[in-house]
Amino acid sequence: MNIRIGIGTDIHRLVEGRPLIIGGVQIPYDKGLLGHSDGDVAVHAMIDAILGAAGLGDIGEHFPDSCARYKDARSTDLLRQVVADVYSRGFRIVNVDLTIQAERPYLREYKEKIRTVLSSIIGIELTQINVKAKTNEGLDSIGEGKAISAIAAVCLYKEKASK
Ligand code: MG
Repeated sequence: MNIRIGIGTDIHRLVEGRPLIIGGVQIPYDKGLLGHSDGDVAVHAMIDAILGAAGLGDIGEHFPDSCARYKDARSTDLLRQVVADVYSRGFRIVNVDLTIQAERPYLREYKEKIRTVLSSIIGIELTQINVKAKTNEGLDSIGEGKAISAIAAVCLYKEKASK
């Protein structure tokens, strides 16, 4: 069995006048994440982790923010495309581990929803995905409430090694 690990990270600025969407879930808050797409920091980290594990580069190569096509794109749609691509290459997802760092809002009560939504989008069992939420202890831009970041680790496997 061919096992491959990928890691993805992302950070987006919190600004007024945008909906807050994390892990495909809209979360009530007075600010949202700035981005060319919907700014879904957790999904972007997951996409980079999947691409990394598959050896397929990074999110910017696949969905350039210079491209009008991805303006205000739903990141979950981009995730669906990436998952379909890696599945078509013979990869399957073993597990996903996602950490979201936000000082505010508290994400604890949304972790299960995010887990359910993401497992459904990428076609895995709930037991194959873990979602963690933490604050940044008041430190740096995240701790000051100016940004939210995410780190994702993804394990893929392929039954037979191939190109
Ligand atoms: Mg991003």
